[in-house]
Amino acid sequence: MEKDMMSDNTGAIKRYALELGFSDCGIAAVEELVDEYIRYEQWLSLGYHAHLGYMERNSEKRKDISLIVPDARSVIVLTHNYHTPHIHPSGESDTSGKLARYAWGDDYHDILPPKLEKLSKYIKELYPDTESRYYTDTGPILEKQWAVKAGVGWQGKHSNIISRGYGSWFFIGIIITTAELIPDAPIQDFCGSCTACLDACPTNAIVQPYVVDAGKCISYWTIEAKPDTCIPEPIAQNMNGWLFGCDICQDVCPWNRFQKHTEEKSFEPRNNETSIDYVKLETMVQDEFSERFRKSPIKRTKLKGIQRNIAAIKGAKND
Ligand code: SF4
Ligand code: SF4
Repeated sequence: MEKDMMSDNTGAIKRYALELGFSDCGIAAVEELVDEYIRYEQWLSLGYHAHLGYMERNSEKRKDISLIVPDARSVIVLTHNYHTPHIHPSGESDTSGKLARYAWGDDYHDILPPKLEKLSKYIKELYPDTESRYYTDTGPILEKQWAVKAGVGWQGKHSNIISRGYGSWFFIGIIITTAELIPDAPIQDFCGSCTACLDACPTNAIVQPYVVDAGKCISYWTIEAKPDTCIPEPIAQNMNGWLFGCDICQDVCPWNRFQKHTEEKSFEPRNNETSIDYVKLETMVQDEFSERFRKSPIKRTKLKGIQRNIAAIKGAKND
């Protein structure tokens, strides 16, 4: 395809992505992730993925994305801001637990896919002979590494991707396509000498710059750990009211000051709640939980997991 046409189509795809509500759209040319995969394997070998066994599987696909979409030429990385004007309740409460910002609104697994589907259809209109597949955190894809390659941000020392325009309060969607598009260049790392996230992490889960040990991270324990797994004492002692997730390392990041707010109403706090009453949750029955957290990210932890988290917070206070 002529370079001019490729450039026009790339621009048209990026414009349509913004029209759909994405905050940014970057493109990387498909190639094997060699250095990135070596670092990922080292992280796995140190056991920093805790009990997330699925991260060990599909290693070939994680390394070579064209095993997911044969003949893939481009990886399109879409970011979607979820930052709202609300703030976390200050201090620790005896009656309610804090929720990570990403969980205040509706589940991004429901909000992003229809937009990714529309963009994929648009690519098909521009390039009828191509195939595309989209993912929101749902495939064996090293999304952060592709986000860096596509230039939508750099990986901060807390390991999240940071955009100069949007900080780190955004979700990532990926489209793998056989369409050849003009790639973007990675941007530089703007963390500099800052260590605010490492200094603020209450459990020292950021074991070195850019490396998080999930087994020490409050987010892992309150969201990902199986509901019947006990939260270890050193984590529980530092939960300080974090009921679902933890935003501490991102809250202290200077790149998250004064960032733009999302226009996506679905990410506004459901029921105007940025924290949830413990008693309500402790006495909740399954039907109530399913109804209350339908289409919310919080359903992931299940009622038993949420109640386990409350018990850990309260148990640590009583010690
Ligand atoms: S989410 Fe919380 S516990 Fe995890 S690395 Fe960040 S500050 Fe530490
Ligand atoms: S807090 Fe500082 S070191 Fe950590 S990610 Fe933000 S800029 Fe980088």
